[in-house]
Amino acid sequence: MTVKTTTHEFQAETKKLLDIVINSLYTERDVFVRELISNAADALEKFRHESLTAGDDVFDGHLPLEITVELDDKNNTLTIADSGIGMTRSELEHNLGTIAHSGSNTFLTQLAEAAKKDVNLIGQFGVGFYSAFMAGNVVRVQSRSWDKSEGHEWRSDGTGSYSITEMPGLRRGTKIIVELKEDAKEYVEKWKIESIIKRYSAFVSFPIKLDGEVVNTVQALWTRSKSDIKDEEYVEFYKFIGNAAAEPMYRLHFSADAPLAINALLFVPTENFEVFGFGKVEPGVNLYCQRILIDQHSKNILPEWLRFLKGVVDSEDLPLNISRQALQDNALVGKLRKVITKRFLKHLEEEAKSDAEKYQKFWSTFGIYLKEGVTTDYEFQKDLGKLLRFESSKSEAGKPIALADYLLRMGPEQNEIYYINGASRAAIEAGPYVEMFRKKDIEILYTLEPIDDFVLSHLGEFEGKKLVSADRADLALAKDGEDAAAPSESAEQDRLDKDTLASLTEWMKTVLEASISEVVVSKRLVDAPAMIVTADGFMTSSMERVLAAGRKEHGLPGLGESKKKMEINPGNPLIKKLAELRSSDAEFAAEVARQIHDNAMIQAGLVVDPLAMVERNYRILGRVVAA
Ligand code: ADP
Ligand code: MG
Repeated sequence: MTVKTTTHEFQAETKKLLDIVINSLYTERDVFVRELISNAADALEKFRHESLTAGDDVFDGHLPLEITVELDDKNNTLTIADSGIGMTRSELEHNLGTIAHSGSNTFLTQLAEAAKKDVNLIGQFGVGFYSAFMAGNVVRVQSRSWDKSEGHEWRSDGTGSYSITEMPGLRRGTKIIVELKEDAKEYVEKWKIESIIKRYSAFVSFPIKLDGEVVNTVQALWTRSKSDIKDEEYVEFYKFIGNAAAEPMYRLHFSADAPLAINALLFVPTENFEVFGFGKVEPGVNLYCQRILIDQHSKNILPEWLRFLKGVVDSEDLPLNISRQALQDNALVGKLRKVITKRFLKHLEEEAKSDAEKYQKFWSTFGIYLKEGVTTDYEFQKDLGKLLRFESSKSEAGKPIALADYLLRMGPEQNEIYYINGASRAAIEAGPYVEMFRKKDIEILYTLEPIDDFVLSHLGEFEGKKLVSADRADLALAKDGEDAAAPSESAEQDRLDKDTLASLTEWMKTVLEASISEVVVSKRLVDAPAMIVTADGFMTSSMERVLAAGRKEHGLPGLGESKKKMEINPGNPLIKKLAELRSSDAEFAAEVARQIHDNAMIQAGLVVDPLAMVERNYRILGRVVAA
């Protein structure tokens, strides 16, 4: 009989990954046992689900679903076997020869850095199998698929290549034989393996037999009654399903019978993995039906913006044999998603009430996802609105407030909620937009992130009060019966007369024609000479900035070309002098007008041509010094 063996090179990224795994991650080698057992459990879950639809049409249908671990101290091998779904020849090649993840170089560098800090992270990246090479010189994988095709052995020493050989007579499932390195012989000791399994794999939902003896208790934690579950059990379960090292930030365990039977156990992790530069995280909640996994890392059971959650949703109402594709537009799944999402958002609201400081930490870590929710998901906007937090003119620095807090403080005659975007609290407070708010003692929210204005304009209103950006042209602030249109008395006395103002604004408009559509006399400016306002009131300067940056990234021209309105302050000395200067030295007056315009643009966070501005600035300074 000829045995067919083929040899293959690992994909380049896989080689690098193996190098990282073998050479820099040996500090906490125990995790390789966990990773292999977790793969075995996944394979069993997959088989159980497939066999529900396939009926008798499976290979070795009679085998019990279990994981067996065998230790051989003579040959120094650790063997982990499962009766799961198995792998065909091409699956062996694909699953164990390439990285499913986008195997970019940055990903690998990030991984190397993260894993150096905490090797537990390796499971987060879907590269768990390769951890076998932390302890093994040689790793053999004997596998036979449930589809009745022939079995094979995959073999590698973890350097450049692997081989695949046909191997007749295998049973269904996968057996992984780790030929232990000289310094890894401890992994044939029973107490050692047993303690690793108890620590990391206690929640595997299939029996794990170690030298013939079952060492885990198989139980679905989420189906037990809340009062019977200890905090430690929740924490251990979270660490197990979330591949996490730290405790979760929040947890929600809830059950319902009507209108839908739901058992859900959701966890908020302590860290946001997307900020580490790994790209979008995979959803972390698994969907079960009567304790049988039907959709791992489900994209359907929660909205995409809740992808940072870890946990389990189990519903008896789902048909067991539903296919993954059918889940997507299953009406029942849609209902489950709605109920669970609403319940989770309510839970966050309660958490925020009971411990504001802790919620603040949640907000700074995961707030970005809730903002994503507001801009992408109309269905939950109202619930999400209550969870948003922003700094404001009346909040302490670094201590954002809820929109509800704003409502509590606002006077009965105020009908709108105001906000203004800026790079920092200091930048906003030094700018022209908040002057009238300060004077009239009206609170204004500070939106410090570029996305914030999109979030608030999507939200539109909160509890019936419109959300309005303070750089709107038609903004009218009234408080204490004061008419916003009437300037204060002191300003009235020495402001420019109507005709002078009319001709000044007309003249400025001509000078600034290239970027300004209109120059008007401001009703709101207190100290600053001028400010830029957004004409239609829909797109704030901040939104324009974000869009322009996005266009630049794609090689498109920026958006700054849209013409703006400029308001001038008739009581400001500079503006008054400018009216005089016009008659004595029109050319120099025009220079000053352009400089005022550029300054106002900068305060609006919009781009100006820095070279032209600096040159002009020097010309103006030159005149000042010469005078
Ligand atoms: P992940 O488990 O995150 O997908 P791994 O590196 O642990 O990443 O495993 C890679 C892939 O190899 C798995 O997705 C699975 O398809 C396959 N695999 C690994 N172990 C087994 C097993 N015991 N049975 C069947 N397939 C397996
Ligand atoms: Mg794995």
